Order: sequence, then C-alpha cells, then structure tokens
Amino acid sequence: MKIILAEHIGFCFGVKRAILAAEEAAKAGPIFSFGPLIHNQREIERLEKLGIKTITDKLQIKADDPILIRTHGVGPNVYTALNNEGRKLIDTTCPHVQKAQMAAKEAHEQGYQVIILGDKNHAEVQGIVAWTENKAVVIASLEELKKLELQDKIAFLAQTTEKEEKFAEMVKYLQGKTTDLKVFSTICPSTRIRQEAAAKLAQEVNLMIVIGGKHSSNTKKLAEICRNYVPTFHIERAQELQSSWFLDKFKVGVTAGASTPDWIIKEVVEQMEKINESKVEENFVEIQEKIDLQNVQTGDLIKGTIVQVSSDDALIDIGGKSEGVLPVTEFSNEKVDLKEHLQVGDEILVEVIKVDKEGNYILSRKNAYYNELMDKLEKAMETGEIIEAPVVEIVKGGLLVDVGIRGFVPASQVERFFVEDFQEYLQKTLRLRVIELDKEKRKVVLSQRVVLDEEHQKQKEATLEQLKEGQTKKGVVKRLTNFGAFVDLGGIDGLLHVSEMGWNRVNHPADVLQVGDEVEVYVLSVDKDKEKISLSLKQLLPDPWQEAIQKYQVNSIVTGKVVRLATFGAFVELEPGLDGLVHISRISKQRVEKVADVLTVGQEVKVKIMDIDTDKKRISLSIKDVEEEPEETEYASFLNQQTSEDSVTIRDLIKAGQDDIIKDKIK
Ligand code: SF4
Repeated sequence: MKIILAEHIGFCFGVKRAILAAEEAAKAGPIFSFGPLIHNQREIERLEKLGIKTITDKLQIKADDPILIRTHGVGPNVYTALNNEGRKLIDTTCPHVQKAQMAAKEAHEQGYQVIILGDKNHAEVQGIVAWTENKAVVIASLEELKKLELQDKIAFLAQTTEKEEKFAEMVKYLQGKTTDLKVFSTICPSTRIRQEAAAKLAQEVNLMIVIGGKHSSNTKKLAEICRNYVPTFHIERAQELQSSWFLDKFKVGVTAGASTPDWIIKEVVEQMEKINESKVEENFVEIQEKIDLQNVQTGDLIKGTIVQVSSDDALIDIGGKSEGVLPVTEFSNEKVDLKEHLQVGDEILVEVIKVDKEGNYILSRKNAYYNELMDKLEKAMETGEIIEAPVVEIVKGGLLVDVGIRGFVPASQVERFFVEDFQEYLQKTLRLRVIELDKEKRKVVLSQRVVLDEEHQKQKEATLEQLKEGQTKKGVVKRLTNFGAFVDLGGIDGLLHVSEMGWNRVNHPADVLQVGDEVEVYVLSVDKDKEKISLSLKQLLPDPWQEAIQKYQVNSIVTGKVVRLATFGAFVELEPGLDGLVHISRISKQRVEKVADVLTVGQEVKVKIMDIDTDKKRISLSIKDVEEEPEETEYASFLNQQTSEDSVTIRDLIKAGQDDIIKDKIK
C-alpha cells in the first residue's frame, strides 16, 4: 500500500500564526481563550499544557488575566468590553477573517444590505455579523437567498471556508436582482488550495483518510469533496484507523484540515504504516520531507506560489504546509501596487527574512531577487553574455543603466569613439557586457565598448577575408586627409588616394567627398597581412581620354595648342585632357636645336597624328609631317619658287598657322 500526502495539508497560515502567537504569549503566564483556539481537541489538550486555556465564561478567570482572540475573530462589542476591563489582548484573528469583517462593516456603513454566505452558528460568521451592528443576513443556500427580501444596494461576502462555486452561483443570482451589488471575495485561498489538492489526490487513490476535528468545518468540507471520488474516512486521531479499510487498497491518500497539527498527521501516517508494514518506509520519508519543509530557516531562498494578493501584501505558499507574507516594502524599493505586479498562481522566488513574533514567515522578493540577479550577472560575466539595458541616468563619468539594479557604464566604455555629450543616450538601450561585479555591495560595471570592439573585429576579419582586387564595394567616408580619404568598407578602412578620385586633377579630397558620404569604390589592391587596402573612384568613372580619343584617327591632321615644352619635344593639347607629344625630331624637317626656338606655350599648331597607343594613352604627333600632305607639298614647291624676300622661316609658318600662310601665299 502506498500512502500519498496531499500537496497542501494541515495547518493553514492563520492557524499556524495563531498557535505560535499563543505559545509565545503563554511563556509569560497562562492566557485564556473563549472557546477552543482551533477545532482539534488533541491540539487543544497540548496547548492546555502550555498554559493556553479554553474558557466558556469570564467568571472562570481573574480580572487581569490575558484573553486570546481566536482566528475566527470577534465583534467590536467584544473588543470594547475587554478593553474596558483593561485586559491584555492576544489577537490572533486571521487576516482573512479581518478582511471579511472590515468589508461587512464598511458596506453596512454605506447603507448596503449585507448578505453573508455561511453557517450562522459559526463563531467567524457571528463575529462578522457583529461588525454590521448585527444587521447582516446569513444564508446557507441559494434557496435561502431566493427567499430573502432584497434591497437596492447589496453587499455579498462569504465565510472564509465556503466553496467558491457556491458563492459564484449566488453572485450570479444577485447580479440579476440589483444594479448596485458589491461582491467581496473573502473565501480563504488556503481552504481552496487544500480542497483542490484533496480533490486531485482523491482522483488518484483508492481511499482517502481525512484528518481533523469532527467540528472543523474546513475538515468536514475536505471529506465531503473526497467522497465525490473515493471512499473516505474522516478521523481525528490515529487510533480510529481500522485495518479492514485498507485490505484491498494499494494507494491511499491522506489530507488534513487547516486545524490539524503536523504531529497528528504524522501519528496517523505512522499508524497506517504499521497497518501495512511492507510499504511504509519510502512514504514515511516522503512524509517527513513534507513536514520538514515547515522548518524553513531565515535566509532560505524558496520558490513559492502566490495564493493571495492585495495592494500591500501577498500570501505565498512556500511549500509543505507553509505560507508566508510578502509585504509590498519587500517587493520593491519603489512605491507600487502589488496587484499590478503579482497574480495568484504565479511562482515567485522569495527569501525568508524573518519569522515574526506571531509566527509569520516574512518574505522578501527584493532579497531573493537581488541574490538571483547577482548570480545571473555573475554568470553573464563568466560567459560573456550580452545584456540589453536602457540608460536611466547620465552621471558624472558615465551612464547608469537598468540591469535589474543600477549598473554603471563608464564614459570610456560607451562607444569606440569619444563622446562629448551623452544626452542623446538617455532611454537608449545599450548592449552591454559585465566587466566588474561586487555581489556583496551589489555593484556592477558594464561596457558597451567591449561588445562593439569585438563585433568590429569580427566584421573586419570577415570583410578582409572576402575582399579582392578588382571588386566594387560600397563604403562610407570616415576621414579626410590632404592625401586622400579613408573609406569604411565594413570594419576596415581602405585608402582612396586623391589621385584616384577622378580623371581630372583633384586638388583636395574635400573638393570631391565629405565625411559620411556613401561611395562605391573600386578595390585596387589588398594587403591582408598589413591590412592595407587601396581604393579608386576614378576606375568606376568613364575615362574621358578613352572617350575623347575615339574622334581621332592616325594620319589625320588636326589643330592643337602647345601646352608644355620639354627638351625632347612639345606637348600639344588636342582638347582638354588629351595631350600628344611632338618629338623634337618631328617639329620640322630642319634640324631643331631647342624646342623653344620654334615653339612657344599657347601657340596653335597643325599636327599630324602619327600613332595612338590607347593602353599607354600616348599620342604621337608630328608637325613636320603636316608639310608632306599633298596640299602642303604644292605649297612647298610654291615656296621653292619664291625670292629670298618672300621666304618665311619654319617658325614663321608654324607660328602663323599654315593655313593662313598658305592662303596668303596663294592670293
Ligand atoms: S483557513 Fe484561512 S481564514 Fe481560516 S484561519 Fe486558516 S488562513 Fe485564516
């Protein structure tokens, strides 16, 4: 036989809190409770021994004896009476019950007809009714509700141990009856959680044992739920177990009411183990583990489940039978509404920061969060993980970013270049790497620059890898110098020399380009070892020389202008950008000693195109060969017939321009 404990079992938060508070108070002397502190006789007997006495009449105690108010709570009249007597009060009213009391009181004060779903004989319900000046109406069923004479304004709430479906059914009914309906969700989640766990378990086993006081309403409800699925026995103590119940049962579930202490659960389970010796060992360990879960220590980090949320605090199930309170101040340093951040059913990591005098586990999300965060940041530092974080503040020396806490990014670690003004970085998201971390002091220093450097290096390597001579690439002008422009090709810059910026002479790179310009460049050369790249713009531009030369043919005679003299000849410009050389030997049929003797810069001359070398862009010209053309031959013979007075020198001819002279001579 396998014994399985329900996931949520035994003492609820409110009962645990009450017992711890009572035990603490009883250390100073006996305390007295009107009625049993919880609905479990054996626990009452144990508490009696500790000095926590149950009374039914004030006559049973002395005038100054302290009074304990139970989890069920009491009406305001009781507080008044006890305070008037000057008694010390140990108030263990469960916060869930207090919530119901206050809801009823306020609704009543606002003129609402207060209707309570619950047991009118239960102390909790009677206490709530008392907060409405005994005006609230208690109903136990839909039928009773239907019989009620309803008013215009209705406030509806429930005893903390009521079933949610029943409550919801009545809410639905009331919605059809009034337009001013206030519904207060006062059903305790501990009850629901235990009920759900019991129902779930009951569907997996052959038999359920429900442990708890026979008068405990929540225990009775647990048994009722379990009976919907399997045979169920409601017991108060181990001695009630009968071996015949387990004869043909191989899986038995155990649950317990919210007022059942661990030690009774343990006793019952041990007794069940004895009944079926063979299969108990493993399960006892499980039981022990569950019960041990309650031994939560301060400083423990626990993943819990949110069971209830208000604006100011949240109730967290931290495993086993334990629940703790997460105050809003332990959730965040900011002033927040918890309801906007937490949802019932969500898991949350918390740290137990203390157990208060009343036995409540006080939890901190902040501490747990910081511990978790520091671990994450440490891991990110070790693995080099990139963290994205928005800039939240500009401070002296750098930026503050939000990485869960404020992280510092030094100014030098923001970019790969110097940043004068960080204003535009505010609210921008940076990609960062943790470079320093002090977990104790919760200080973290981050760098975007290392991320950028690394990416830049990778990009540079990739660009260099695929870069080849003769390629055409797009780039961005990064920097201008007197001798050229540096163009970013993607992580690496290439040099576009001023001489490569155009076919015509460029005096300064700034005449052609500006920083930031996108350009298409031709890769002239790549030195991967030295990471040197030479680029050209003009290679991608049409070559005016090649275009212009198309118009000229070898042997044709054209007019040009002497643009430069050299010892070996004269350069004659046929048109801008298209110069040819008249070698000294081709200036005249006569021997020419010095070029300057016959030609001057700016002089127009007729030249014959002797040769065009398109590869070397060289044009060979001749002046003397112009003379050999037929018309010039005639002209030459004509000249031979002239007297010395008529004769002209070659220089005269060239200077004047042959045509004019010829015309002159023909006239
Ligand atoms: S069952 Fe809920 S309401 Fe009742 S004492 Fe426990 S925690 Fe409080």
